[in-house]
Amino acid sequence: MNHILDADVVILGAGCAGLSLAGRLAEAHTHLRIILVDPRAGYHDDRSWCFWRPEKHDLSDLVSARWSGWRFSDTAGTTALHRVPGLSYQYIRSIDFYNRAVEKIAAAPTIELRLGVRAGAISVAADGVRVETDQGPLLAGQVIDTRPQHRSAILYQSFVGVELHSTEPHGFNPSEVTLMGSMAADASGLRFVYALPLDDHRLILEWTRFGAAPIPRRQLVTELDGVLAAHSLGDAVPVRTEGGVLAMGLRPDDRPPLPGVVSAGNAGGALRAASGYGFLRIQRWAEACAGRLLAGAPAIGHPSEPWSRATLDRLFLQAVRRHPERTAEYFLALAQGVPAPSLLRFLSDGAHTLDYARIIGSLPKRPFIAEMTRRATYSPTPPAMVVPAPAQADTAQSIMVQANTEQADTDQADTEQSTTAALPLVGLR
Ligand SMILES: Cc1cc2nc3c(=O)[nH]c(=O)nc-3n(C[C@H](O)[C@H](O)[C@H](O)COP(=O)(O)OP(=O)(O)OC[C@H]3O[C@@H](n4cnc5c(N)ncnc54)[C@H](O)[C@@H]3O)c2cc1C
Repeated sequence: MNHILDADVVILGAGCAGLSLAGRLAEAHTHLRIILVDPRAGYHDDRSWCFWRPEKHDLSDLVSARWSGWRFSDTAGTTALHRVPGLSYQYIRSIDFYNRAVEKIAAAPTIELRLGVRAGAISVAADGVRVETDQGPLLAGQVIDTRPQHRSAILYQSFVGVELHSTEPHGFNPSEVTLMGSMAADASGLRFVYALPLDDHRLILEWTRFGAAPIPRRQLVTELDGVLAAHSLGDAVPVRTEGGVLAMGLRPDDRPPLPGVVSAGNAGGALRAASGYGFLRIQRWAEACAGRLLAGAPAIGHPSEPWSRATLDRLFLQAVRRHPERTAEYFLALAQGVPAPSLLRFLSDGAHTLDYARIIGSLPKRPFIAEMTRRATYSPTPPAMVVPAPAQADTAQSIMVQANTEQADTDQADTEQSTTAALPLVGLR
């Protein structure tokens, strides 16, 4: 151990990726001295992490809901219900995940979580890697940077959601998730409802848009209020809110790599370009990276995407960007034309050649063939302030603001964080 260093490893950002890694290192009783820094003051239930898994896995005790079916539909009434024996769509409340990791870290004598500390510039010094923070510099053997970055992307998925408790049954079937419901598309892009019924009276309902630019939160909130009214949920009690902007298909990072510094989490390419799912990919990275560090090896970032997956994702995002008005048609073609297990393997990074063939076979040929000859087109980098601060921007009658002002502030932070991420081929997060 080099005693000039403040820590062997400094982790910038103690969100999903930072905590996933530190939690594993704590569990393994690491001797490495680790410091995590994050400007947040504490943790809120600020996002719903969902994914497909079998019943039992290493995080199954954190799962608070499971659904055996997931539905796609459009406004014309076309629907497709998918089920895959042995797999369910599972939901972890972020607060349960955060609390678990923070507890493990608190019990680890060599790991320190410093909240209320904002990291700034990183530079390579003679003795290690230097990180400037608003509480003074830190010198580390290695730095793992999970801070959000504002990079341009092919498409943006903008969304707001609310968890509601209603006196009357909310009307959504509690055994299935509305993955992409009431899809509709026009020149501005795709819009749809994502609904997670927790029981007959509790529901998480999100309103999502895909487009070539992030959508202002004020607009999304107004539209969500309309969706709630249409489902006679205007009087339901809002318990918490969440939201963000996920960047789908990030422009490659052209900054020269710094020795001793690894990017991870959304900023390091954790999010699947065409699917926006990142949670399980972050868990896989954390497992691999913790293994390396425990073995005395340098930290690693996320693995690069295999060519076939990266190409199909890019073609899909490009076709959606070029023909926004056809997006609902593309998603329904996938939902109706690709067997559920194939689509799920594709979304879960486990597709076989036949799965790729089925996906390509189900999509309209012309727009995708046209994209094969084109280079990816990226939107300009979205300014962080593209989404107005909810507390000022949302109207008094908005259910989102009535829900919880403190939470609304958190959502704004999420939005800024999430402008660096990416979203799914079967929409949602
Ligand atoms: C609302 C929402 C719902 C989502 N749902 C799903 C889902 O259902 N399934 C799925 O697979 N994926 C989902 N995702 C995508 C992805 O899993 C999450 O975005 C995940 O949190 C990404 O982890 P991360 O560590 O990269 O970023 P974060 O969890 O956002 O962590 C980044 C951390 O960096 C900190 N930070 C910011 N600036 C600084 C600084 N200057 N110095 C130090 N730290 C800093 C932030 O405070 C934050 O804690 C969702 C994303 C959002 C926004």
